Amino acid sequence: MFSLDGTVTVITGAASGIGAATARRLAAAGSDLVLGDHAADGHDMDAVVADVRALGRRVEVREVDVRDTESVEALVGVATQAFGRLDAVVANAAIARLHALAEMTEADWTQIIDIDLTGVWRTFRAAVGPMRKAGRGRLLATTSTVGVIESWVDHAHYSAAKAGVAGMVRTLATELGPSGITVNAIAPGIIQTPQTLDEVNSLGAAGIADVSQRQAVRRVGRPEDIAAGYHFLASDDASFVTGQVLVIDGGRTLQHG
Ligand code: NAD
Repeated sequence: MFSLDGTVTVITGAASGIGAATARRLAAAGSDLVLGDHAADGHDMDAVVADVRALGRRVEVREVDVRDTESVEALVGVATQAFGRLDAVVANAAIARLHALAEMTEADWTQIIDIDLTGVWRTFRAAVGPMRKAGRGRLLATTSTVGVIESWVDHAHYSAAKAGVAGMVRTLATELGPSGITVNAIAPGIIQTPQTLDEVNSLGAAGIADVSQRQAVRRVGRPEDIAAGYHFLASDDASFVTGQVLVIDGGRTLQHG
């Protein structure tokens, strides 16, 4: 059930948080992996690679900056070049920055849109050729409850980018369905990762502890909670699921106050 045996998946933002957990989960389910690293962020990709190899899967790592079309195409190209196939991409890389609108510069806005929205588009576009040729594929992206069903003060650019990902997924689902490609996103609520632990641009450790008691399930999410969703969406069992934004938020957005 939900087997990914014999498949090949490309994941961006794979050295940390949700991306790293997804790499481990998909490898455990049988997928070989092409992992995108952004070394400037200083995450421990070696630990992810060691775990994937210990699970008996093949893995290739490439440096990628999702702002750069060439590097995204090179990353996605490794799947067919090294492993002879491409079954799924998880366009997961993104950043969050705190900027109130009045102080937000054009460069601030453009940086977030370029990474969080256009980066997903670049990753999908690089994958669509080989997937069309194969007549099957899974385009998957990490959006957020932010921008899709809730707000985040001082993050208008991030909210716009994440809403954009949801819109893109819906249109691409209808555009690519006839080619055997499904397109879905996951909207995480608050998950404990380097992004949320950032004291300047997000909640920080104290903020996470505070908010955890106000989630319906009385905890914040773990990266593994999102990885489980990707496991399902990447599998054959999800072949009738497309154009969806799967909210995984511990009931956060059902509550008020
Ligand atoms: P994270 O910071 O650990 O992961 C982000 C990853 O993206 C990092 O590995 C980073 O190196 C990579 N990255 C950043 N800029 C890049 C670039 N220009 N090119 C390539 N890679 C780049 O945090 P995370 O929470 O695991 O984030 C994963 C995804 O989940 C993001 O899309 C984020 O917006 C989304 N998300 C997170 C939460 C949360 O609560 N943590 C909630 C909703 C959505």
